[in-house]
Amino acid sequence: MIPGIHVSVRGGLDKALDTLSELGLSCGQIFTSNQRQWKGHTLTEKEIDRFVSTSITIISHTSYLINLATTDSRVEKLSVIALEAELERMHALGIEWGVLHPGSHLGTGDDKGIKKISSLVKKILRNSPEDTGILYENTAGQGTTIGHSFCQLAQLLELTGIVDRTGICFDTCHAFAAGYDLSSEQAVSETMMSFNETVSIDRIKAFHLNDSKGTCGSHRDRHADIGKGLIGLEPLRSLASMPEFREISGIAETPGSDKDRAEGIKLIIHERIEN
Ligand SMILES: [Zn+2]
Ligand SMILES: [Zn+2]
Repeated sequence: MIPGIHVSVRGGLDKALDTLSELGLSCGQIFTSNQRQWKGHTLTEKEIDRFVSTSITIISHTSYLINLATTDSRVEKLSVIALEAELERMHALGIEWGVLHPGSHLGTGDDKGIKKISSLVKKILRNSPEDTGILYENTAGQGTTIGHSFCQLAQLLELTGIVDRTGICFDTCHAFAAGYDLSSEQAVSETMMSFNETVSIDRIKAFHLNDSKGTCGSHRDRHADIGKGLIGLEPLRSLASMPEFREISGIAETPGSDKDRAEGIKLIIHERIEN
Protein backbone atom coordinates (compact mmCIF):
# COMPACT_ATOMS: atom_id res chain seq x y z
CA MET A 1 0.00 0.00 0.00
CA ILE A 2 1.10 3.56 -0.61
CA PRO A 3 1.08 5.60 2.62
CA GLY A 4 -1.08 8.73 2.67
CA ILE A 5 -3.10 10.93 4.99
CA HIS A 6 -6.22 13.02 4.97
CA VAL A 7 -4.60 16.43 4.64
CA SER A 8 -5.79 19.90 5.59
CA VAL A 9 -6.58 22.40 2.81
CA ARG A 10 -6.45 25.44 5.09
CA GLY A 11 -4.97 28.28 3.03
CA GLY A 12 -6.00 26.77 -0.33
CA LEU A 13 -6.20 23.33 -1.87
CA ASP A 14 -2.63 23.62 -3.15
CA LYS A 15 -1.39 23.90 0.44
CA ALA A 16 -2.25 20.21 0.80
CA LEU A 17 0.33 19.38 -1.88
CA ASP A 18 3.02 21.36 -0.02
CA THR A 19 2.17 19.58 3.22
CA LEU A 20 2.33 16.12 1.61
CA SER A 21 5.71 16.93 0.02
CA GLU A 22 7.07 18.19 3.34
CA LEU A 23 5.88 15.01 5.05
CA GLY A 24 7.42 12.84 2.33
CA LEU A 25 4.11 11.32 1.24
CA SER A 26 3.12 10.56 -2.35
CA CYS A 27 -0.62 10.36 -1.78
CA GLY A 28 -3.34 12.10 0.18
CA GLN A 29 -7.04 12.78 0.54
CA ILE A 30 -8.63 16.23 0.60
CA PHE A 31 -11.99 17.94 0.73
CA THR A 32 -12.15 20.02 -2.47
CA SER A 33 -14.87 22.12 -0.84
CA ASN A 34 -16.09 22.78 2.69
CA GLN A 35 -17.54 19.41 3.68
CA ARG A 36 -20.20 20.96 5.90
CA GLN A 37 -21.60 23.52 3.44
CA TRP A 38 -23.79 23.04 0.39
CA LYS A 39 -22.15 25.94 -1.40
CA GLY A 40 -19.30 24.54 -3.47
CA HIS A 41 -15.77 25.96 -3.64
CA THR A 42 -14.79 27.76 -6.84
CA LEU A 43 -11.32 26.59 -7.84
CA THR A 44 -8.60 29.17 -8.34
CA GLU A 45 -6.25 29.05 -11.30
CA LYS A 46 -3.33 28.48 -8.96
CA GLU A 47 -5.06 25.43 -7.44
CA ILE A 48 -5.76 23.94 -10.86
CA ASP A 49 -2.21 24.57 -12.13
CA ARG A 50 -0.62 22.97 -9.08
CA PHE A 51 -2.86 19.89 -9.12
CA VAL A 52 -2.58 19.10 -12.81
CA SER A 53 1.21 19.24 -12.64
CA THR A 54 1.75 17.24 -9.42
CA SER A 55 2.91 13.64 -9.27
CA ILE A 56 1.18 13.17 -5.90
CA THR A 57 -1.94 10.99 -6.08
CA ILE A 58 -4.93 12.76 -4.56
CA ILE A 59 -8.34 11.37 -3.80
CA SER A 60 -11.28 13.55 -2.85
CA HIS A 61 -13.71 13.00 0.02
CA THR A 62 -17.16 14.25 -0.94
CA SER A 63 -19.31 16.45 1.31
CA TYR A 64 -20.69 15.03 4.56
CA LEU A 65 -24.05 16.67 3.75
CA ILE A 66 -24.73 14.51 0.70
CA ASN A 67 -27.40 11.86 1.32
CA LEU A 68 -28.58 10.14 -1.84
CA ALA A 69 -30.91 7.86 0.15
CA THR A 70 -32.80 10.77 1.71
CA THR A 71 -36.58 10.98 1.77
CA ASP A 72 -36.44 14.79 1.60
CA SER A 73 -36.65 15.96 -2.03
CA ARG A 74 -34.79 19.19 -1.24
CA VAL A 75 -31.84 17.30 0.27
CA GLU A 76 -31.88 14.91 -2.68
CA LYS A 77 -31.69 17.79 -5.16
CA LEU A 78 -28.90 19.51 -3.23
CA SER A 79 -27.02 16.20 -2.92
CA VAL A 80 -27.12 15.57 -6.67
CA ILE A 81 -25.97 19.13 -7.42
CA ALA A 82 -23.15 18.86 -4.86
CA LEU A 83 -21.94 15.52 -6.18
CA GLU A 84 -22.00 16.69 -9.80
CA ALA A 85 -20.06 19.81 -8.81
CA GLU A 86 -17.58 17.62 -6.92
CA LEU A 87 -16.93 15.51 -10.02
CA GLU A 88 -16.43 18.68 -12.09
CA ARG A 89 -13.86 19.98 -9.57
CA MET A 90 -12.14 16.58 -9.56
CA HIS A 91 -11.95 16.66 -13.36
CA ALA A 92 -10.42 20.15 -13.31
CA LEU A 93 -7.87 19.08 -10.69
CA GLY A 94 -7.03 15.75 -12.31
CA ILE A 95 -8.44 13.72 -9.41
CA GLU A 96 -9.76 10.33 -10.44
CA TRP A 97 -11.66 9.11 -7.37
CA GLY A 98 -14.18 10.73 -5.03
CA VAL A 99 -15.10 8.89 -1.82
CA LEU A 100 -18.82 8.88 -1.04
CA HIS A 101 -20.73 7.83 2.08
CA PRO A 102 -23.57 5.86 0.47
CA GLY A 103 -26.24 7.51 2.65
CA SER A 104 -28.89 6.97 5.33
CA HIS A 105 -32.32 5.64 4.42
CA LEU A 106 -33.98 7.31 7.44
CA GLY A 107 -36.51 4.52 7.90
CA THR A 108 -37.45 3.48 4.35
CA GLY A 109 -35.30 0.35 4.58
CA ASP A 110 -31.99 -0.84 3.15
CA ASP A 111 -33.30 -2.20 -0.14
CA LYS A 112 -35.10 0.99 -1.11
CA GLY A 113 -32.08 3.05 -0.07
CA ILE A 114 -29.63 0.93 -2.06
CA LYS A 115 -31.80 1.17 -5.19
CA LYS A 116 -32.14 4.92 -4.84
CA ILE A 117 -28.43 5.56 -4.25
CA SER A 118 -27.28 3.39 -7.13
CA SER A 119 -29.72 4.83 -9.63
CA LEU A 120 -28.73 8.40 -8.68
CA VAL A 121 -24.99 7.62 -8.82
CA LYS A 122 -25.46 6.00 -12.23
CA LYS A 123 -27.25 9.12 -13.49
CA ILE A 124 -24.66 11.47 -11.96
CA LEU A 125 -21.74 9.53 -13.47
CA ARG A 126 -23.38 9.64 -16.90
CA ASN A 127 -23.66 13.45 -16.59
CA SER A 128 -20.07 13.90 -15.41
CA PRO A 129 -16.57 13.88 -16.89
CA GLU A 130 -15.51 10.35 -17.84
CA ASP A 131 -12.15 10.59 -16.12
CA THR A 132 -13.82 10.75 -12.70
CA GLY A 133 -15.34 8.00 -10.57
CA ILE A 134 -17.04 7.33 -7.25
CA LEU A 135 -15.90 5.04 -4.44
CA TYR A 136 -18.56 3.85 -2.03
CA GLU A 137 -17.12 3.93 1.48
CA ASN A 138 -18.14 1.13 3.82
CA THR A 139 -19.83 2.45 6.96
CA ALA A 140 -19.88 1.49 10.64
CA GLY A 141 -23.63 0.94 10.48
CA GLN A 142 -24.60 3.78 12.79
CA GLY A 143 -28.32 4.62 12.65
CA THR A 144 -29.79 3.88 9.23
CA THR A 145 -26.56 4.22 7.26
CA ILE A 146 -26.23 1.99 4.22
CA GLY A 147 -23.03 0.20 3.23
CA HIS A 148 -22.03 -1.51 6.47
CA SER A 149 -22.22 -5.05 5.12
CA PHE A 150 -20.15 -6.45 2.27
CA CYS A 151 -23.40 -7.68 0.75
CA GLN A 152 -24.79 -4.11 0.62
CA LEU A 153 -21.57 -2.85 -0.99
CA ALA A 154 -21.82 -5.60 -3.61
CA GLN A 155 -25.44 -4.61 -4.32
CA LEU A 156 -24.53 -0.92 -4.65
CA LEU A 157 -21.79 -1.72 -7.19
CA GLU A 158 -23.91 -4.22 -9.05
CA LEU A 159 -26.90 -1.88 -9.42
CA THR A 160 -24.76 1.15 -10.29
CA GLY A 161 -22.85 -0.63 -13.05
CA ILE A 162 -20.26 1.53 -14.90
CA VAL A 163 -17.58 -0.79 -13.50
CA ASP A 164 -14.52 1.23 -14.53
CA ARG A 165 -15.82 4.38 -12.76
CA THR A 166 -16.97 2.84 -9.48
CA GLY A 167 -15.28 1.04 -6.61
CA ILE A 168 -14.89 0.77 -2.87
CA CYS A 169 -12.96 2.82 -0.35
CA PHE A 170 -12.42 0.32 2.49
CA ASP A 171 -12.33 1.92 5.96
CA THR A 172 -10.81 -0.44 8.52
CA CYS A 173 -12.40 1.30 11.54
CA HIS A 174 -15.84 1.17 9.92
CA ALA A 175 -15.52 -2.49 8.89
CA PHE A 176 -14.42 -3.44 12.42
CA ALA A 177 -17.24 -1.45 14.03
CA ALA A 178 -19.67 -3.05 11.57
CA GLY A 179 -18.70 -6.47 12.91
CA TYR A 180 -15.85 -7.66 10.66
CA ASP A 181 -12.95 -8.69 12.87
CA LEU A 182 -9.59 -7.18 11.92
CA SER A 183 -7.85 -7.51 15.28
CA SER A 184 -5.37 -10.27 14.33
CA GLU A 185 -3.51 -11.30 11.20
CA GLN A 186 -5.76 -14.33 10.93
CA ALA A 187 -8.88 -12.16 11.27
CA VAL A 188 -7.61 -9.74 8.60
CA SER A 189 -7.04 -12.59 6.21
CA GLU A 190 -10.49 -14.08 6.88
CA THR A 191 -12.27 -10.74 6.58
CA MET A 192 -10.55 -9.90 3.29
CA MET A 193 -11.35 -13.37 1.99
CA SER A 194 -14.98 -12.82 2.85
CA PHE A 195 -14.88 -9.40 1.13
CA ASN A 196 -13.35 -11.04 -1.93
CA GLU A 197 -16.10 -13.65 -2.09
CA THR A 198 -18.91 -11.10 -1.72
CA VAL A 199 -17.59 -8.01 -3.51
CA SER A 200 -14.19 -8.87 -5.08
CA ILE A 201 -10.94 -7.45 -3.81
CA ASP A 202 -10.08 -5.75 -7.11
CA ARG A 203 -12.96 -3.30 -6.57
CA ILE A 204 -11.03 -1.68 -3.69
CA LYS A 205 -9.40 1.50 -5.04
CA ALA A 206 -8.43 3.10 -1.70
CA PHE A 207 -8.20 2.32 2.00
CA HIS A 208 -8.90 4.45 5.03
CA LEU A 209 -6.49 2.97 7.56
CA ASN A 210 -7.97 3.94 10.90
CA ASP A 211 -7.81 2.16 14.22
CA SER A 212 -11.06 1.90 16.18
CA LYS A 213 -12.14 3.15 19.61
CA GLY A 214 -15.34 1.11 19.39
CA THR A 215 -15.40 -2.66 19.74
CA CYS A 216 -16.00 -5.05 16.85
CA GLY A 217 -19.71 -4.92 16.05
CA SER A 218 -20.31 -1.77 18.16
CA HIS A 219 -21.50 0.23 15.09
CA ARG A 220 -19.63 3.21 16.52
CA ASP A 221 -17.67 5.34 14.06
CA ARG A 222 -14.87 6.47 16.38
CA HIS A 223 -11.41 6.61 14.82
CA ALA A 224 -8.42 5.86 17.06
CA ASP A 225 -4.77 6.65 16.37
CA ILE A 226 -3.05 3.88 14.46
CA GLY A 227 -1.94 1.18 16.89
CA LYS A 228 -3.81 2.77 19.81
CA GLY A 229 -7.25 1.29 19.19
CA LEU A 230 -8.87 -2.12 19.36
CA ILE A 231 -7.53 -3.24 15.96
CA GLY A 232 -3.85 -2.70 16.71
CA LEU A 233 -0.63 -2.22 14.81
CA GLU A 234 0.21 -5.73 13.57
CA PRO A 235 -3.13 -6.48 11.89
CA LEU A 236 -3.03 -3.11 10.07
CA ARG A 237 0.55 -3.84 8.99
CA SER A 238 -0.44 -7.22 7.61
CA LEU A 239 -3.33 -5.68 5.66
CA ALA A 240 -1.10 -2.90 4.29
CA SER A 241 1.49 -5.40 3.13
CA MET A 242 -0.88 -7.61 1.14
CA PRO A 243 0.55 -7.84 -2.41
CA GLU A 244 -2.92 -7.28 -3.92
CA PHE A 245 -2.87 -3.74 -2.52
CA ARG A 246 0.66 -2.79 -3.54
CA GLU A 247 -0.46 0.15 -5.69
CA ILE A 248 -3.45 1.20 -3.57
CA SER A 249 -3.50 4.35 -1.40
CA GLY A 250 -3.78 3.78 2.35
CA ILE A 251 -5.04 6.99 3.95
CA ALA A 252 -4.92 7.69 7.70
CA GLU A 253 -7.93 9.69 8.91
CA THR A 254 -6.94 9.60 12.54
CA PRO A 255 -7.27 12.41 15.13
CA GLY A 256 -4.70 15.20 15.44
CA SER A 257 -2.63 17.12 12.91
CA ASP A 258 -1.39 16.21 9.43
CA LYS A 259 1.99 15.47 11.03
CA ASP A 260 0.38 13.16 13.62
CA ARG A 261 -1.38 11.23 10.84
CA ALA A 262 1.85 10.98 8.84
CA GLU A 263 3.64 9.53 11.86
CA GLY A 264 0.80 7.04 12.34
CA ILE A 265 0.71 5.83 8.75
CA LYS A 266 4.49 5.42 8.68
CA LEU A 267 4.19 2.97 11.58
CA ILE A 268 2.33 0.57 9.32
CA ILE A 269 3.60 1.36 5.83
CA HIS A 270 7.20 2.06 5.02
CA GLU A 271 7.56 4.10 1.84
CA ARG A 272 9.02 1.94 -0.88
CA ILE A 273 12.30 3.19 -2.25
CA GLU A 274 11.99 3.09 -6.02
CA ASN A 275 15.18 3.45 -8.01
ZN1 LIG B 1 -15.59 8.98 4.93
ZN1 LIG C 1 -15.25 7.14 10.17
